[in-house]
Amino acid sequence: LLACRQLPKVELHAHLNGSVRPQTIREILEERSAAGEALPVTELQLKDITACGDRSLADCFRLFDLIHAITTTHAAISRIAAEVVRDFAEDRVVYLELRTTPKARPEYGMTKESYIEAVLDGIGLALSQLGQQRCTTMSTDLSCLSRPGVDGGASEGKLDVREAAGCTPGGEGPQMDGCCTAAPGPVDGPASVPSGGSAVVLTNDEAIIVKLLLSIDRREDAAAALETVQLAARYKCRGVVGVDLSGNPYVGSWASWSGALAAARAAGLGVTLHAGEVYSPAETASMLAFRPDRLGHCCCLDRELAETLRSSAIPLELCLTSNVLTQSVPSYPEHHFAELYAAGHPVVLCTDDSGVFGTTLSREYAIAATAFRLRMNALVELGRKSVEYTFADAEEKRRLRSIMDRALVTK
Ligand code: IMP
Repeated sequence: LLACRQLPKVELHAHLNGSVRPQTIREILEERSAAGEALPVTELQLKDITACGDRSLADCFRLFDLIHAITTTHAAISRIAAEVVRDFAEDRVVYLELRTTPKARPEYGMTKESYIEAVLDGIGLALSQLGQQRCTTMSTDLSCLSRPGVDGGASEGKLDVREAAGCTPGGEGPQMDGCCTAAPGPVDGPASVPSGGSAVVLTNDEAIIVKLLLSIDRREDAAAALETVQLAARYKCRGVVGVDLSGNPYVGSWASWSGALAAARAAGLGVTLHAGEVYSPAETASMLAFRPDRLGHCCCLDRELAETLRSSAIPLELCLTSNVLTQSVPSYPEHHFAELYAAGHPVVLCTDDSGVFGTTLSREYAIAATAFRLRMNALVELGRKSVEYTFADAEEKRRLRSIMDRALVTK
């Protein structure tokens, strides 16, 4: 595990509220209790949330609803986002794609936009605490404001992305207001974890890059899904790079979200889908036919679907602990990682919900090393290849490759 902690790593599948520290959940509840609020969960439920044990997939979704009932304020969301980024940075994750479903909660004065802003604030805070400048990762890419070829409106999803991005419809360039305003100018300097934090010290060019994906929850209908895509397009300039489809796999139907996902693709957003978490062959076939940029899980495929997946070469986000604890796969050695890895299929190890499942990316690497007899060089190579499946831009990928290449040399 220690050796895995030393490796630079790429995390592509981490849900914000699933990655919350159990201690933070307790502290938020204490604060709410001290403020005289009635608590939204019982002692027993709190124990369940913070237990990090194995639980069925259905139980997990009940748990997420409880977490959502606790993390209701902008301050809580910012805090969680900041802590999640710091936790990944301390685990030597050099590139993080965090995902979350924007939530409108009028009873708490929260809109989907203000939720996203709270997440971005938390990310910015963590980056500044880590000695980085927010602008090095979140806001320098203003090209989305002026790139002429982005035309979601003309395509399947009927989304006018330039309008959604707050840009002048006539192609005259950006309106520099709202979410698309540039952050303060870049500043160089050493980036290190603050004292008292982890032993891992990052050189400036290994500073963590953080991107955000907006998740469509399977409970949402077509209009809500499209709204999420529009928000993702609008917040591109702030580091939103893609859209995810996730949530309870027993709920909803593909037809509700496929139009919005097509619009996301037309808008130049990356698209990743939770697929095959439960056996649902018709839906999985539709998802494969859609050809997203990446897929998550794919635990329950029949022979034909597995063959389609392999020939598609779509990169797969695999979450070992999550899949074993939720009994989506029977054991680590039997995890489909083994077969896909041996076949040379693009795979990337991820945590899914590090708080709920009590894991870290280093731990996932260590589990893979043991379960699939991977040597350190194979793990480094796994991380190196993961760079290619990110939604990072070309310059960021170049930087990440050089970090990974240095790790290859030193291993
Ligand atoms: P949030 O989007 O930040 O609130 O993160 C929690 C949400 O992520 C859950 O409510 C689910 O919608 C989604 N999620 C987390 N883990 C899983 C999973 O294993 N499968 C499908 N969806 C998940």
